[in-house]
Amino acid sequence: MTKKIKHVLGLSGGKDSSALALYMKETRPDLDIEYFFTDTGYELPETNEFIDQLEERLGYIHRLNAKSLNNIEGRGELDFKSMLKKHQNFLPSQRDRWCTIQLKLKPFERWADSLIADGYEIYSYVGIRADEPHRTGLLTIDKPITTVMPFREDGIVKSDIENILQRNGLELPAYYSWRSRSGCSFCFYQKKIEWVRLKDNHPELFEQAKEFEKGDSNNVVGERFYWMGKGEPLETLEDPKRREQIIANHEKQVERFKKKKRRNALIGDIEGVCELTDIDEIYDDVEGGGACITCYK
Ligand code: SF4
Repeated sequence: MTKKIKHVLGLSGGKDSSALALYMKETRPDLDIEYFFTDTGYELPETNEFIDQLEERLGYIHRLNAKSLNNIEGRGELDFKSMLKKHQNFLPSQRDRWCTIQLKLKPFERWADSLIADGYEIYSYVGIRADEPHRTGLLTIDKPITTVMPFREDGIVKSDIENILQRNGLELPAYYSWRSRSGCSFCFYQKKIEWVRLKDNHPELFEQAKEFEKGDSNNVVGERFYWMGKGEPLETLEDPKRREQIIANHEKQVERFKKKKRRNALIGDIEGVCELTDIDEIYDDVEGGGACITCYK
């Protein structure tokens, strides 16, 4: 009996998974791939717009959704506030990424389960590049799913990604003008400068993040943790002095990075440094310091 195989590719709204989907069309046109986007319900408007643009080029994209999943399972609409309550009002953090499990992996797991129940073996295509040293940040579900990394197999590196998007008539997603990654508007992997810019670009989403941060202080157990870390709630960004300090620090980091590039003569056009696509190098991080590959890749 021939095996039933389902090829799936998760789009995060980030540049790498988007480029991978287009690259697969170019290089493996015979593969019948199903695309999916797991909408946490807290995505940036720019991400949703970009997914619509991708759909015009790729064809249908399944929208998996944590809120509707919970409705389907008869648990009512489970929004982030009620999830927070379930976690004793502890915000998710790098040490406890419960958000990724609830908002990203569970909806995918449900979809995968339905495919497995139909007798499919699943091949999941992931946009991890050949120049990425680790698979840090990639959370997966415990199911019989084979992960495939075509960029790694084909030696595709960061500098190839924009070319792939461009030759398919796509610009970088619009959020790159102020933020380095897709994912939830309140993602704790953001740099402080990105929180400042969230406030400027989407004040209502900044306010929402502030609300989540306040939580129910009567029920908070243990030390208080904020989106930006210990001791610095988002409302500190309303102080013009703190805001200016964060902007100045970021500008210094960018300058430092440009100087380093000049010294190493790694690129000819220093002015072409994009502070948001190069944010990891600017802050000496490897892929966001283990940031949420599952969410932004
Ligand atoms: S994008 Fe950030 S906040 Fe959202 S699920 Fe991923 S890690 Fe959590």
